[in-house]
Amino acid sequence: MDAPQYTHLEQRYGAHNYHPLDVVLKRGEGVWVWDVAGIKYLDCLSAYSAVNQGHCHPRIMQALIEQARTLTLTSRAFRNDQLGLFYQELCALTRSHKVLPMNSGAEAVETAIKAVRKWGVVEKGVAEGKAEVIVCRNNFHGRTITIVGFSTDGDSRKGFGPFTPGFKVIPFGDARALEEAITPHTVGFLVEPIQGEGGVIIPPSGYLRDVRRICSNHRVILILDEIQTGLGRTGRLLAEAHDNIEADLTLIGKALSGGFYPVSAVLSNREVLGVLKPGDHGSTFGGNPLACAVSRMALKVLVEEGMIENAAQMGAYFLEGLRQIRSPLIREVRGRGLLIGMELDPEAGGARAYCEKLMEKRLLCKETHRHIIRFAPPLVIDRDTIDWALERIADVFDK
Ligand SMILES: *Cc1c(COP(=O)(O)O)cnc(C)c1O
Repeated sequence: MDAPQYTHLEQRYGAHNYHPLDVVLKRGEGVWVWDVAGIKYLDCLSAYSAVNQGHCHPRIMQALIEQARTLTLTSRAFRNDQLGLFYQELCALTRSHKVLPMNSGAEAVETAIKAVRKWGVVEKGVAEGKAEVIVCRNNFHGRTITIVGFSTDGDSRKGFGPFTPGFKVIPFGDARALEEAITPHTVGFLVEPIQGEGGVIIPPSGYLRDVRRICSNHRVILILDEIQTGLGRTGRLLAEAHDNIEADLTLIGKALSGGFYPVSAVLSNREVLGVLKPGDHGSTFGGNPLACAVSRMALKVLVEEGMIENAAQMGAYFLEGLRQIRSPLIREVRGRGLLIGMELDPEAGGARAYCEKLMEKRLLCKETHRHIIRFAPPLVIDRDTIDWALERIADVFDK
Protein backbone atom coordinates (compact mmCIF):
# COMPACT_ATOMS: atom_id res chain seq x y z
CA MET A 1 0.00 0.00 0.00
CA ASP A 2 1.14 3.58 -0.64
CA ALA A 3 0.60 6.84 1.27
CA PRO A 4 -2.64 7.88 -0.45
CA GLN A 5 -4.15 4.48 0.30
CA TYR A 6 -3.31 4.72 4.02
CA THR A 7 -4.63 8.27 4.07
CA HIS A 8 -7.83 7.15 2.40
CA LEU A 9 -8.44 4.50 5.07
CA GLU A 10 -7.97 7.05 7.85
CA GLN A 11 -10.31 9.50 6.22
CA ARG A 12 -12.89 6.92 5.27
CA TYR A 13 -13.18 5.26 8.68
CA GLY A 14 -11.73 7.65 11.25
CA ALA A 15 -13.27 10.62 13.05
CA HIS A 16 -11.73 13.79 11.63
CA ASN A 17 -10.65 15.27 14.93
CA TYR A 18 -7.13 16.01 13.63
CA HIS A 19 -5.73 17.77 10.56
CA PRO A 20 -2.33 16.06 10.19
CA LEU A 21 0.34 16.87 7.66
CA ASP A 22 0.11 14.41 4.80
CA VAL A 23 2.99 12.16 5.69
CA VAL A 24 2.43 8.52 6.62
CA LEU A 25 5.15 7.37 8.99
CA LYS A 26 6.29 3.82 9.35
CA ARG A 27 9.52 3.74 11.35
CA GLY A 28 11.47 5.85 13.83
CA GLU A 29 14.95 5.88 15.36
CA GLY A 30 16.33 8.65 17.56
CA VAL A 31 15.50 12.01 15.99
CA TRP A 32 14.63 10.46 12.61
CA VAL A 33 11.42 8.99 11.18
CA TRP A 34 10.73 7.32 7.83
CA ASP A 35 7.56 7.38 5.76
CA VAL A 36 6.02 4.43 3.94
CA ALA A 37 8.02 5.26 0.79
CA GLY A 38 11.26 5.13 2.81
CA ILE A 39 11.85 8.90 2.88
CA LYS A 40 13.68 10.06 6.00
CA TYR A 41 12.59 13.12 8.01
CA LEU A 42 13.85 14.97 11.06
CA ASP A 43 11.16 14.95 13.74
CA CYS A 44 10.90 18.44 15.22
CA LEU A 45 7.72 17.78 17.17
CA SER A 46 8.59 14.65 19.20
CA ALA A 47 4.90 13.73 19.44
CA TYR A 48 4.22 16.95 21.36
CA SER A 49 7.25 16.20 23.57
CA ALA A 50 6.27 12.62 24.37
CA VAL A 51 9.38 11.17 22.71
CA ASN A 52 12.03 13.32 24.41
CA GLN A 53 14.29 10.25 24.63
CA GLY A 54 14.14 9.74 20.84
CA HIS A 55 12.10 7.26 18.83
CA CYS A 56 12.31 3.59 19.80
CA HIS A 57 15.05 4.11 22.37
CA PRO A 58 16.72 0.67 22.57
CA ARG A 59 16.96 0.47 26.37
CA ILE A 60 13.33 1.50 26.89
CA MET A 61 12.30 -0.95 24.18
CA GLN A 62 14.17 -3.73 25.97
CA ALA A 63 12.47 -2.86 29.27
CA LEU A 64 9.10 -2.95 27.50
CA ILE A 65 9.75 -6.31 25.88
CA GLU A 66 11.04 -7.93 29.06
CA GLN A 67 8.15 -6.69 31.17
CA ALA A 68 5.63 -7.57 28.45
CA ARG A 69 6.89 -11.14 28.62
CA THR A 70 6.58 -11.21 32.41
CA LEU A 71 3.49 -9.38 33.65
CA THR A 72 1.51 -6.52 32.12
CA LEU A 73 -1.60 -5.75 34.11
CA THR A 74 -2.83 -6.71 37.53
CA SER A 75 -5.15 -3.77 38.27
CA ARG A 76 -4.67 -2.11 41.60
CA ALA A 77 -6.76 -4.78 43.28
CA PHE A 78 -3.39 -6.46 43.86
CA ARG A 79 0.12 -5.11 44.32
CA ASN A 80 2.85 -5.58 41.73
CA ASP A 81 6.62 -5.66 41.98
CA GLN A 82 7.21 -2.62 39.72
CA LEU A 83 4.99 0.01 41.31
CA GLY A 84 6.91 0.66 44.51
CA LEU A 85 10.22 0.94 42.67
CA PHE A 86 8.66 3.33 40.16
CA TYR A 87 7.37 5.49 43.04
CA GLN A 88 10.67 5.45 44.85
CA GLU A 89 12.76 6.33 41.81
CA LEU A 90 10.36 9.04 40.62
CA CYS A 91 10.18 10.62 44.09
CA ALA A 92 13.96 10.56 44.48
CA LEU A 93 14.45 12.17 41.08
CA THR A 94 11.80 14.88 41.49
CA ARG A 95 12.13 15.32 45.27
CA SER A 96 8.47 14.49 45.75
CA HIS A 97 6.78 12.80 48.69
CA LYS A 98 4.00 10.93 46.96
CA VAL A 99 2.90 9.82 43.50
CA LEU A 100 -0.46 8.96 41.96
CA PRO A 101 -0.07 7.17 38.61
CA MET A 102 -2.55 7.59 35.76
CA ASN A 103 -2.36 7.13 31.98
CA SER A 104 -3.02 10.25 29.92
CA GLY A 105 -2.12 13.82 30.73
CA ALA A 106 -5.76 14.86 30.95
CA GLU A 107 -6.31 12.20 33.63
CA ALA A 108 -3.44 13.61 35.67
CA VAL A 109 -5.06 17.06 35.44
CA GLU A 110 -8.45 15.65 36.47
CA THR A 111 -6.81 13.80 39.35
CA ALA A 112 -5.13 16.98 40.59
CA ILE A 113 -8.41 18.89 40.46
CA LYS A 114 -10.15 16.17 42.47
CA ALA A 115 -7.31 16.07 44.99
CA VAL A 116 -7.23 19.86 45.60
CA ARG A 117 -11.00 20.06 45.85
CA LYS A 118 -11.03 17.36 48.50
CA TRP A 119 -8.01 18.91 50.20
CA GLY A 120 -9.96 22.17 50.32
CA VAL A 121 -12.88 20.52 52.06
CA VAL A 122 -10.86 18.35 54.45
CA GLU A 123 -7.90 20.61 55.25
CA LYS A 124 -8.89 24.19 54.45
CA GLY A 125 -12.50 23.99 55.62
CA VAL A 126 -14.06 25.05 52.30
CA ALA A 127 -17.74 24.09 52.19
CA GLU A 128 -18.56 21.03 50.10
CA GLY A 129 -19.32 22.08 46.51
CA LYS A 130 -17.80 25.55 46.89
CA ALA A 131 -14.15 24.94 46.01
CA GLU A 132 -12.65 27.17 43.32
CA VAL A 133 -9.63 26.50 41.12
CA ILE A 134 -7.95 29.37 39.29
CA VAL A 135 -6.55 28.76 35.79
CA CYS A 136 -4.97 30.95 33.09
CA ARG A 137 -6.21 32.34 29.82
CA ASN A 138 -4.76 30.57 26.76
CA ASN A 139 -4.18 27.40 28.81
CA PHE A 140 -3.97 23.88 27.47
CA HIS A 141 -4.55 21.07 29.96
CA GLY A 142 -6.25 18.38 27.85
CA ARG A 143 -9.58 17.44 26.34
CA THR A 144 -12.05 16.15 28.92
CA ILE A 145 -15.31 18.03 29.54
CA THR A 146 -14.07 19.58 32.78
CA ILE A 147 -10.79 20.67 31.23
CA VAL A 148 -12.20 22.13 28.01
CA GLY A 149 -14.79 23.85 30.21
CA PHE A 150 -12.07 26.16 31.52
CA SER A 151 -10.25 26.49 28.19
CA THR A 152 -10.41 29.91 26.53
CA ASP A 153 -10.02 28.45 23.04
CA GLY A 154 -13.33 28.63 21.20
CA ASP A 155 -12.86 25.50 19.09
CA SER A 156 -12.02 23.39 22.14
CA ARG A 157 -15.25 24.37 23.93
CA LYS A 158 -17.86 25.07 21.32
CA GLY A 159 -20.76 22.64 21.41
CA PHE A 160 -19.48 20.63 24.36
CA GLY A 161 -21.31 22.31 27.25
CA PRO A 162 -22.65 22.25 29.90
CA PHE A 163 -19.36 22.43 31.75
CA THR A 164 -18.12 21.79 35.26
CA PRO A 165 -18.41 24.86 37.52
CA GLY A 166 -15.78 26.01 40.01
CA PHE A 167 -13.11 27.55 37.77
CA LYS A 168 -11.97 31.13 37.43
CA VAL A 169 -9.82 32.33 34.52
CA ILE A 170 -7.13 35.01 34.91
CA PRO A 171 -4.47 36.34 32.50
CA PHE A 172 -1.26 34.28 32.21
CA GLY A 173 1.93 35.90 33.47
CA ASP A 174 0.14 38.34 35.78
CA ALA A 175 0.81 37.55 39.45
CA ARG A 176 -1.30 40.46 40.67
CA ALA A 177 -4.32 39.08 38.87
CA LEU A 178 -3.82 35.86 40.82
CA GLU A 179 -3.68 37.65 44.14
CA GLU A 180 -6.85 39.57 43.30
CA ALA A 181 -8.72 36.45 42.14
CA ILE A 182 -8.12 34.44 45.32
CA THR A 183 -11.10 34.12 47.68
CA PRO A 184 -11.59 32.04 50.84
CA HIS A 185 -12.96 29.32 48.54
CA THR A 186 -9.84 29.11 46.37
CA VAL A 187 -8.14 25.73 46.74
CA GLY A 188 -5.73 25.62 43.80
CA PHE A 189 -3.99 27.50 41.02
CA LEU A 190 -3.35 25.39 37.91
CA VAL A 191 -0.76 26.79 35.49
CA GLU A 192 1.80 25.74 32.87
CA PRO A 193 5.36 27.05 33.50
CA ILE A 194 5.47 27.81 29.76
CA GLN A 195 2.30 27.63 27.69
CA GLY A 196 3.25 25.04 25.07
CA GLU A 197 0.11 24.56 23.01
CA GLY A 198 -0.68 28.22 23.63
CA GLY A 199 2.29 29.10 21.39
CA VAL A 200 5.40 28.64 23.56
CA ILE A 201 4.47 31.63 25.73
CA ILE A 202 7.14 32.29 28.37
CA PRO A 203 5.89 34.31 31.35
CA PRO A 204 7.79 37.38 32.60
CA SER A 205 10.81 36.55 34.70
CA GLY A 206 9.96 36.25 38.39
CA TYR A 207 6.36 35.26 37.66
CA LEU A 208 6.57 31.73 39.05
CA ARG A 209 8.38 32.94 42.17
CA ASP A 210 5.62 35.49 42.79
CA VAL A 211 2.99 32.86 42.13
CA ARG A 212 4.70 30.50 44.59
CA ARG A 213 4.74 33.17 47.31
CA ILE A 214 1.11 34.20 46.74
CA CYS A 215 -0.12 30.59 46.84
CA SER A 216 1.79 29.95 50.07
CA ASN A 217 0.47 33.14 51.69
CA HIS A 218 -3.14 32.29 50.90
CA ARG A 219 -2.98 28.53 51.43
CA VAL A 220 -3.69 27.82 47.79
CA ILE A 221 -2.22 24.65 46.25
CA LEU A 222 0.11 25.47 43.36
CA ILE A 223 -0.39 22.89 40.60
CA LEU A 224 2.19 23.07 37.82
CA ASP A 225 1.22 21.28 34.62
CA GLU A 226 4.64 20.08 33.42
CA ILE A 227 3.19 17.48 31.05
CA GLN A 228 4.91 19.24 28.15
CA THR A 229 7.62 21.31 29.88
CA GLY A 230 8.80 18.54 32.19
CA LEU A 231 11.28 15.70 31.86
CA GLY A 232 14.12 17.65 30.32
CA ARG A 233 12.31 19.53 27.58
CA THR A 234 13.34 23.00 28.77
CA GLY A 235 16.88 22.00 29.75
CA ARG A 236 16.04 21.17 33.36
CA LEU A 237 14.29 18.07 34.69
CA LEU A 238 11.28 20.24 35.55
CA ALA A 239 10.76 23.77 34.24
CA GLU A 240 10.05 24.98 37.80
CA ALA A 241 13.82 24.64 38.42
CA HIS A 242 14.51 27.68 36.23
CA ASP A 243 12.75 29.77 38.88
CA ASN A 244 14.02 27.80 41.84
CA ILE A 245 10.58 26.98 43.12
CA GLU A 246 8.70 23.81 44.02
CA ALA A 247 5.04 23.30 43.18
CA ASP A 248 2.76 21.53 45.65
CA LEU A 249 1.44 19.28 42.89
CA THR A 250 3.33 18.62 39.67
CA LEU A 251 1.73 16.91 36.68
CA ILE A 252 3.86 14.89 34.30
CA GLY A 253 2.99 12.63 31.37
CA LYS A 254 4.05 12.45 27.73
CA ALA A 255 7.81 11.68 27.94
CA LEU A 256 7.33 9.79 31.21
CA SER A 257 7.26 6.66 29.05
CA GLY A 258 9.56 7.87 26.27
CA GLY A 259 6.64 7.52 23.88
CA PHE A 260 6.12 3.80 24.33
CA TYR A 261 3.02 3.82 26.41
CA PRO A 262 0.57 6.31 27.95
CA VAL A 263 1.80 7.04 31.48
CA SER A 264 1.11 10.13 33.57
CA ALA A 265 1.49 10.97 37.22
CA VAL A 266 0.59 13.49 39.88
CA LEU A 267 3.56 14.29 42.10
CA SER A 268 2.83 15.72 45.50
CA ASN A 269 5.18 17.81 47.56
CA ARG A 270 2.83 18.41 50.43
CA GLU A 271 0.37 15.95 51.74
CA VAL A 272 -2.39 16.89 49.29
CA LEU A 273 -2.57 13.37 47.93
CA GLY A 274 -2.90 12.18 51.52
CA VAL A 275 -6.56 13.25 51.53
CA LEU A 276 -7.41 10.53 49.01
CA LYS A 277 -8.68 7.33 50.62
CA PRO A 278 -9.32 3.89 49.10
CA GLY A 279 -12.30 4.11 46.79
CA ASP A 280 -11.93 7.87 46.14
CA HIS A 281 -10.11 7.59 42.85
CA GLY A 282 -8.48 5.07 40.55
CA SER A 283 -7.74 3.72 37.11
CA THR A 284 -7.65 0.15 35.80
CA PHE A 285 -4.39 0.72 33.92
CA GLY A 286 -2.84 3.38 36.19
CA GLY A 287 0.33 2.04 37.80
CA ASN A 288 0.35 -1.23 35.88
CA PRO A 289 3.65 -3.15 35.86
CA LEU A 290 4.28 -2.62 32.13
CA ALA A 291 3.81 1.15 32.46
CA CYS A 292 6.03 1.24 35.54
CA ALA A 293 8.85 -0.77 33.97
CA VAL A 294 8.78 1.38 30.83
CA SER A 295 8.72 4.61 32.83
CA ARG A 296 11.51 3.54 35.14
CA MET A 297 13.75 3.03 32.13
CA ALA A 298 12.52 6.18 30.38
CA LEU A 299 13.57 8.23 33.44
CA LYS A 300 16.84 6.35 33.77
CA VAL A 301 18.01 7.02 30.21
CA LEU A 302 16.93 10.65 30.41
CA VAL A 303 19.33 11.16 33.32
CA GLU A 304 22.09 8.66 32.55
CA GLU A 305 22.48 9.63 28.93
CA GLY A 306 22.74 13.34 29.65
CA MET A 307 19.62 14.30 27.71
CA ILE A 308 18.64 17.12 30.04
CA GLU A 309 22.01 18.88 29.72
CA ASN A 310 21.92 18.23 25.98
CA ALA A 311 18.52 19.91 25.78
CA ALA A 312 19.93 23.00 27.49
CA GLN A 313 23.00 23.19 25.23
CA MET A 314 21.40 22.22 21.94
CA GLY A 315 18.36 24.35 22.72
CA ALA A 316 20.52 27.46 23.15
CA TYR A 317 22.36 26.64 19.94
CA PHE A 318 19.14 26.04 17.96
CA LEU A 319 17.51 29.21 19.32
CA GLU A 320 20.54 31.30 18.41
CA GLY A 321 20.63 29.81 14.92
CA LEU A 322 16.94 30.50 14.37
CA ARG A 323 17.42 34.09 15.51
CA GLN A 324 20.13 34.53 12.86
CA ILE A 325 17.57 33.89 10.13
CA ARG A 326 16.58 37.30 8.82
CA SER A 327 13.15 37.33 7.33
CA PRO A 328 10.23 39.77 7.31
CA LEU A 329 8.02 36.70 7.77
CA ILE A 330 9.39 36.02 11.26
CA ARG A 331 8.10 38.18 14.07
CA GLU A 332 9.82 36.52 17.02
CA VAL A 333 11.75 33.40 18.01
CA ARG A 334 11.53 32.43 21.68
CA GLY A 335 12.18 29.33 23.70
CA ARG A 336 13.77 27.57 26.61
CA GLY A 337 15.83 24.44 26.12
CA LEU A 338 14.41 22.51 23.17
CA LEU A 339 10.93 24.03 23.43
CA ILE A 340 11.09 26.74 20.79
CA GLY A 341 8.39 28.79 19.13
CA MET A 342 8.75 30.82 15.96
CA GLU A 343 6.00 33.37 15.63
CA LEU A 344 5.29 34.43 12.08
CA ASP A 345 3.98 37.75 10.94
CA PRO A 346 0.22 37.61 10.24
CA GLU A 347 1.17 38.79 6.74
CA ALA A 348 2.78 35.38 6.20
CA GLY A 349 -0.73 33.95 5.99
CA GLY A 350 -0.52 31.27 8.69
CA ALA A 351 2.12 28.81 9.82
CA ARG A 352 0.56 25.73 8.23
CA ALA A 353 1.88 26.48 4.72
CA TYR A 354 5.40 26.84 6.14
CA CYS A 355 5.13 23.51 7.96
CA GLU A 356 4.22 22.00 4.60
CA LYS A 357 7.24 23.63 2.95
CA LEU A 358 9.47 22.36 5.75
CA MET A 359 8.02 18.88 5.26
CA GLU A 360 9.06 18.99 1.60
CA LYS A 361 12.57 19.66 2.91
CA ARG A 362 12.29 16.61 5.20
CA LEU A 363 11.68 18.45 8.42
CA LEU A 364 8.52 17.67 10.39
CA CYS A 365 6.97 20.28 12.64
CA LYS A 366 3.50 21.49 13.40
CA GLU A 367 1.87 24.86 13.75
CA THR A 368 0.40 25.74 17.11
CA HIS A 369 -2.30 28.35 16.94
CA ARG A 370 -2.34 30.03 13.58
CA HIS A 371 0.94 31.87 13.36
CA ILE A 372 3.39 29.89 15.47
CA ILE A 373 5.67 27.01 14.53
CA ARG A 374 7.00 24.93 17.39
CA PHE A 375 10.45 23.35 17.11
CA ALA A 376 10.78 20.62 19.73
CA PRO A 377 13.00 17.77 18.48
CA PRO A 378 13.90 14.78 20.68
CA LEU A 379 16.45 15.74 23.34
CA VAL A 380 19.11 13.49 21.76
CA ILE A 381 19.62 15.83 18.81
CA ASP A 382 23.22 16.87 18.08
CA ARG A 383 24.85 20.00 16.66
CA ASP A 384 25.29 18.65 13.13
CA THR A 385 21.63 17.75 12.92
CA ILE A 386 20.63 21.20 14.15
CA ASP A 387 22.86 22.71 11.45
CA TRP A 388 21.12 20.46 8.92
CA ALA A 389 17.73 21.72 10.16
CA LEU A 390 18.78 25.38 10.27
CA GLU A 391 19.93 25.22 6.66
CA ARG A 392 16.51 24.00 5.60
CA ILE A 393 14.56 26.41 7.79
CA ALA A 394 16.65 29.29 6.45
CA ASP A 395 15.90 28.08 2.92
CA VAL A 396 12.20 28.42 3.59
CA PHE A 397 12.35 31.83 5.30
CA ASP A 398 15.51 33.58 4.10
CA LYS A 399 14.13 35.52 1.23
C1 LIG B 1 -0.45 17.28 26.12
C2 LIG B 1 -0.80 18.07 27.33
C3 LIG B 1 -1.85 17.67 28.19
C4 LIG B 1 -2.77 16.51 27.89
O1 LIG B 1 -2.13 15.30 27.78
P1 LIG B 1 -2.89 14.06 27.06
O2 LIG B 1 -1.99 12.90 27.32
O3 LIG B 1 -3.02 14.42 25.62
O4 LIG B 1 -4.22 13.93 27.74
C5 LIG B 1 -2.05 18.42 29.34
N1 LIG B 1 -1.30 19.50 29.61
C6 LIG B 1 -0.30 19.92 28.81
C7 LIG B 1 0.51 21.11 29.18
C8 LIG B 1 -0.03 19.22 27.63
O5 LIG B 1 0.94 19.66 26.80
